[in-house]
Amino acid sequence: MIQSVAFIGLGAMGYRMAAHLPKHFEQVLVWNRNFAKAKQHAAMYGTQAVSLQDAVQADVIFSCLPTSADVEQLLADLQLKSGSIWVDCTSGVPESAKKLAQQLKKDGVYFLDAPVSGQTIGAEKGTLTVMIGGDAAAFQKALPAIQAFGGLIKHVGESGAGFAVKAVNNMLMAVNLCAVAEGFTTLKAHGVELSEALDCINASSGKSMVTETIFPQRVLTREFPVTFALPLLAKDTGIALDLAREAKLATPVLATARNMIQAANASSDNVVDFSSAVKMYESWSKITLE
Ligand code: NDP
Repeated sequence: MIQSVAFIGLGAMGYRMAAHLPKHFEQVLVWNRNFAKAKQHAAMYGTQAVSLQDAVQADVIFSCLPTSADVEQLLADLQLKSGSIWVDCTSGVPESAKKLAQQLKKDGVYFLDAPVSGQTIGAEKGTLTVMIGGDAAAFQKALPAIQAFGGLIKHVGESGAGFAVKAVNNMLMAVNLCAVAEGFTTLKAHGVELSEALDCINASSGKSMVTETIFPQRVLTREFPVTFALPLLAKDTGIALDLAREAKLATPVLATARNMIQAANASSDNVVDFSSAVKMYESWSKITLE
């Protein structure tokens, strides 16, 4: 039985994910580096804003930070409670999950890598896909808490497997984002009306999440709302390519997509949305995708 849950990292995703927990658990502790956000969360959703050391005394502790390095740094100085389960929803590095799982096990604490997919809208609705690596019994114990914000929830293997699935997923999206940007600059260069082309493609075999939502809602509208920062996608493509390289695989398409996303990121400031990567193609071709 889970008596208390905690959420650490109330960013674009965490803030919304943690909002579901009080509907299912009496004691929900929250902590954020900028503590004003934790206080605001408590006022809005009935969670309790507490110190980091108090938050990690919960039975199930969620974290959702930008990178595995941030999680490792945070964990370095913490005293955890034996029997607790740390569920890390960061899109992180598989090697780091393996290391942390081993390290925490010495104190009787389980570490699950549990990244999520579904964007801020999925976090808000509580319909995120959650891909989980780590101890199967710990996964079963933590499941009722994960269900608070999860739609499809899958245990995909040992420690690191969840992070690996997430990195490959985001790499596939990046490949598609680059391909759609190239395809649509080609169409515009030939005088095709892009929103009509999009309708055709979305009823044909070339459709994808990028053509169904990202292009019509973010690119053609020129809105590019910042919900998933481009540096985070650049990080994910790097993780996926490292995995392929560790396995000594030839993955030229993935390598190209990683290079394109990292180049787009290098040419933007930190706060742009991942969809803004298409602007790199626009600047090369002098064609605006509208
Ligand atoms: P944000 O940048 O919006 O939020 C990051 C959170 O981490 C903030 O609460 C921030 O605190 C905190 N934080 C950052 N660095 C540290 C640190 N060194 N120590 C402690 N806290 C820190 O990121 P997102 O919520 O967008 O993303 C979080 C994770 O989820 C990433 O790994 C991302 O790849 C993944 N993800 C994001 C999706 C999205 O659509 N945004 C979708 C799916 C996964 P503070 O408020 O103080 O800055």
